[in-house]
Amino acid sequence: MTISYQTLFIGGEWIAPSSSEVIAPINPSTEEVAGSVPEGQSADIDAAVDAARRAFDDPFGWSAWEPERRAELMERLADELDARADGFVERVSSQNGMPVAVARQLEVGYPSAVLRYYAGLAAKGGFDEVRPGFFGGEIEVRRRPLGVVAAVVPWNFPQALTMFKLAPALAAGCTLVIKPSPETVLDAFLLAEAVEAAGLPAGVVNVVPAGREVGAYLVAHPGVDKVAFTGSTAAGRAIAETCGRLLRPVTLELGGKSAAIVLEDAELDLAQIGEGLFTSTLLNNGQTCFLGTRVLAPRSRYGEVVDAFSAFATSLQVGPASAPETQIGPMATAAQRDRVEACIAKGRSEHGQITAGGKRPELDRGFFVEPTVFAGLSNSSTLAREEIFGPVLTVIAYDGVDDAVRIANDSDFGLGGTVWTADPERGAEVARRVRTGTIGVNRYIPDPAAPFGGVKNSGIGRELGPEGLAAYQQLQSVYL
Ligand code: NAD
Repeated sequence: MTISYQTLFIGGEWIAPSSSEVIAPINPSTEEVAGSVPEGQSADIDAAVDAARRAFDDPFGWSAWEPERRAELMERLADELDARADGFVERVSSQNGMPVAVARQLEVGYPSAVLRYYAGLAAKGGFDEVRPGFFGGEIEVRRRPLGVVAAVVPWNFPQALTMFKLAPALAAGCTLVIKPSPETVLDAFLLAEAVEAAGLPAGVVNVVPAGREVGAYLVAHPGVDKVAFTGSTAAGRAIAETCGRLLRPVTLELGGKSAAIVLEDAELDLAQIGEGLFTSTLLNNGQTCFLGTRVLAPRSRYGEVVDAFSAFATSLQVGPASAPETQIGPMATAAQRDRVEACIAKGRSEHGQITAGGKRPELDRGFFVEPTVFAGLSNSSTLAREEIFGPVLTVIAYDGVDDAVRIANDSDFGLGGTVWTADPERGAEVARRVRTGTIGVNRYIPDPAAPFGGVKNSGIGRELGPEGLAAYQQLQSVYL
């Protein structure tokens, strides 16, 4: 049975859309339609921004509440999300091909944990403070909510990446228009149902699924005060240009091409490090922005590292996203599968040697690509320069730790990364030398308490942590 909606969640109500256009995402495991929702148009964006504006400007409303009061409703929303966990898992994996085992960890549980983390910050209150002035007297420093937020999200982790924006925005007292990606809309409607059930005031959260053009309309809308975007570097540039012209605050979480640095002393026993290696290099079918897809190996152990990663890639269970044992599902769309295959062809043409995968698995249907490992390519190859957004790793040789750090930093991106070593302290020393927004030692998972984001072409600004809350606040100094 496919899921079908006829109305949009705007101003706390389910209202008829302005047109009869629909978005019908395709299940990439089965190539069948997963469901359908109305496709938002600019008139729907107008209605949603108006609703968010009214909710924000209400002098006794959400933005004027004490943060502690908002925290209570955020906790209630987290409960409503948890109560719908099975629905989220099913909807997400049926739209973007995320294996249910991955969705159960990262598209439920994790988003509500982020929400509870920010509810905790709001519950602590203390957003405003009085401090002594350098010239004497006192100054009240106020942290006011920024206003109406346009949250533009991609398809790869639709719930987690929505929550990276929704949770701090709610804690700060902002109101939002969420624009999900057309590939993943069904889960966004479940979120809207949870928002309704939690009893958030009308207009605080509005959901309008739409494509790029309507997304661009939202970003430039005169009623919007702040834009929070996760997606490709190309779209991020376009959005940054608009926000620059409008002097509109914007947070950009963009692409990556991170390094997994294997040090001389690293243990490559897959039984021990397999899970951490999976999360940091191939999570979500390789469609994760922070993955260490450039594996840097000491030249003395190059063959051994290539063999270990190839064995690891070959060992992964490829199959439909709905199967509990699946570790690698399909690419989210046929276009994405074609892009990944074009990258593999490019790697071949640049004389890379495929040591695992490299083709479509033998499955009747679905947009699958085998987990693939390339050897023999340098850091200047296309595969090492460009984000592939698929299960493709390139193992690159280095000579000494300084060379490893140099190669890691020789990238247009700087989002994630890992260091693999038997000596965690030394690993941390190496990690600190990498120019990247986040990096892990022998593990990688973005923690709600720590700022997450990138340098260089990986973006501007941070989500998560107290810093992520500050991105939704406007400072006002009152000289008393
Ligand atoms: P995309 O940039 O094409 O689309 C992302 C979202 O932006 C979608 O909702 C889309 O409709 C919208 N959009 C596209 N162009 C727009 C414009 N000009 N104005 C307004 N909205 C616009 O990205 P995608 O292909 O859906 O997602 C994959 C990309 O996202 C990858 O490059 C990946 O690295 C990146 N990503 C980054 C992070 C991070 O935190 N840094 C996390 C996940 C994904």
